[in-house]
Amino acid sequence: MSKREKCGIFGIYSPDEQIFPYLYWGMLAQNHRGHQSHGFATYNNGLEYYTELGLIPPIKEPGKESKVKQLEGKIGIANVRYTTSGGKDYQALCYDAMPILSKGESKSLVLSFNGNIVNVRELQEKVGISKDTSDTHALAALIVQTLEENGSLPEAISYLMNNIDGAYSITGILDDGTLFAFKDPNGIKPMCYGFTDGKYAFSSESTGLAINGIEWQRELRPGELLIVKDGVMSQVQAQPWKNQAFCAFEFAYFSRPDSRYNGRYVYEIRRALGAALARKHGDKIKRCEIVVCLPESAIDAAYGFHEESGLKWEMALRRHRYVSQRAFITDGVDRQSVIYRKLNILTPKIVGKNIAVVDDSIVRGDTMRGNIKRLREAGAQEIHLFITYPKIIGPCFYGIDMSTYKELIGAQLSVDELAVELDADSVNYMPVDEYVKETGLRRDQLCLGCITNKYPTAQADELARSIRKELSKGGTEKGRVYE
Ligand code: SF4
Repeated sequence: MSKREKCGIFGIYSPDEQIFPYLYWGMLAQNHRGHQSHGFATYNNGLEYYTELGLIPPIKEPGKESKVKQLEGKIGIANVRYTTSGGKDYQALCYDAMPILSKGESKSLVLSFNGNIVNVRELQEKVGISKDTSDTHALAALIVQTLEENGSLPEAISYLMNNIDGAYSITGILDDGTLFAFKDPNGIKPMCYGFTDGKYAFSSESTGLAINGIEWQRELRPGELLIVKDGVMSQVQAQPWKNQAFCAFEFAYFSRPDSRYNGRYVYEIRRALGAALARKHGDKIKRCEIVVCLPESAIDAAYGFHEESGLKWEMALRRHRYVSQRAFITDGVDRQSVIYRKLNILTPKIVGKNIAVVDDSIVRGDTMRGNIKRLREAGAQEIHLFITYPKIIGPCFYGIDMSTYKELIGAQLSVDELAVELDADSVNYMPVDEYVKETGLRRDQLCLGCITNKYPTAQADELARSIRKELSKGGTEKGRVYE
């Protein structure tokens, strides 16, 4: 099964233009970050919003009424979501779709959130919110309640940061038209801001700015709050920070290749990772005749691998572009058939060959197992896997859809066992230190939780430790470990 990010967010203020088109395009450029629902909210002398399940629809479809409701206003936020908190049934997906509107007695706001709250149960109890709802409702309620007590947004965000453990990049609008955006004190999730011609915008990835012609300024700092009111932006450091712990997995898989972080495009990092992987495993490469990759997130890494190794690169695995249904696939048999249908293997390019397969990661192993089976059926001789993201040995508590140890094949098996289980001739990972080096960041600037079992926030680290202890005594996990 695919790995899924929790959400993508976007927010914008314009002094003189209706902003709905910016919201629409900004979110469409990030639809890969959430397939289950989408939504928009604006301020137009009051807060308005709507949400729908599924991908963002086209603005116009021939012969059909547009499903896109063009909200009016010059201030707005938007969201695409995949759930890692709250229920997965139809009603829950509708209720938890973002933006969320939270109303108190005298204050209200709309919120768009990317991340996950580790102490969600404690937070829900504190604000009196049902445990059946997503963490976003509790976050929004906490901000509203704190605002009603002291009236200051920086105070409310600082209080929130002091009381929750997790990863969060958030943008929202208060009921007086104040647009704001903030990141958790470890800066785990991406969010950048841009500015052009009086317009301020916040976006999970820089592609949300680029599609709108808004100039990227920088990534928000950990613990930073940016507020846009009456056309003026102010900055508050809501929490002090020593180091960021940016999600290392964004570079290998989640982010678009044309997104940029700290001045570098993701595709450049992926290409460097592929080259480093080839240098690391030269002995195995000697056995291979061609390199192929699984489309599409591994293409840049495969190119770097090919350049460094000199192996012929064959684009022998092609994707059936419109077989992309991912949400609501719950049945194991159906999932396998979708995986099968996604890929077209160009058999004459594979038959009788020893092949190097470059991919970004192995999470549960079901996608890789299915693809190797198909390569074997196509007549591949030896199959050697080269994986740019180090072996995933721990869950993610911060909003990626891999929340238990038991679902992670890398947490259960050694590298050699993994090769047997997947029917590969060898599995060759990037070591953690070399992965870190190619990102251009230091080890202490990254979250490496899922590949080291050391998490950047205290409660997540403690939770992981206690689960491992429980599992070592023969215990089991029940669903998402933080709920
Ligand atoms: S645990 Fe892994 S996937 Fe989750 S935020 Fe950290 S690096 Fe990213």
